[in-house]
Amino acid sequence: MHHLIPLPAFQDNYLWLLHDDRSAIVVDPGDASPVLACLQQQGLELAAILLTHHHADHTGGVAELRAATGAKVYSPAAETLPTTVGPVIELDEGDRIRLLGLEFELIAVPGHTAGHGAYYAADAAQGPLLFCGDTLFSAGCGRLFEGTPAQMLASLDRLAALPDTTRVCCAHEYTLSNLRFALAVEPGNADIARHLEQCQQLREQGRPTLPSPLALERRINPFLRSREPAVVAALAEREPQANDEVARFAALREWKNGFR
Ligand code: ZN
Ligand code: FE
Repeated sequence: MHHLIPLPAFQDNYLWLLHDDRSAIVVDPGDASPVLACLQQQGLELAAILLTHHHADHTGGVAELRAATGAKVYSPAAETLPTTVGPVIELDEGDRIRLLGLEFELIAVPGHTAGHGAYYAADAAQGPLLFCGDTLFSAGCGRLFEGTPAQMLASLDRLAALPDTTRVCCAHEYTLSNLRFALAVEPGNADIARHLEQCQQLREQGRPTLPSPLALERRINPFLRSREPAVVAALAEREPQANDEVARFAALREWKNGFR
């Protein structure tokens, strides 16, 4: 039995902690203090730190956590980390590691950063787990800081092919603003409207909107739906020159960048 806890940090980050009542792993600890507090409160030892990409809000707490716990640190080999992180165990596409009795596979998902990785555990009892950093958000995706639209589209296609019941553990609580954009793209999509209402209630109660089931993301996330007729039609109206799937995906990302 594993417990999955999104630890809020900064403005809108979640540091995902998974534990089995004895050992824990944490994904993208941008800050050490909420992680240390949780470990202490629950009497857990930190077995490993998993990193998806190099940004400070995902790596800033690693040095302190490692010093306090001696946890091993894993990172995609393709990602260039800040020197403050220190030595890491590098994982290539398809590499598997065993933690808390689960097997985690590294999936290379370039786009937000050049070497961004995601961690996928197929055999978790309550449903597969996906820690996807800033690649896939609920109803959204990360900005393209280092990668191309073609890379991000391919990365999202890989994640979208995972099983329906996959629990998508995103690194930010961006769901409400993403859903407002999604509704602007697809005003006729009742799943988006319904989910926006549910998420508004959750946020009013101070509760996270995550993890999100992948089956739901396929129905509400415009960045997983850029080939759907309704999304293609909306993009054709806005950006008539975008006439292949990569150009349409790029136009969708651009539209979101300017959306308020
Ligand atoms: Zn980032
Ligand atoms: Fe981030």
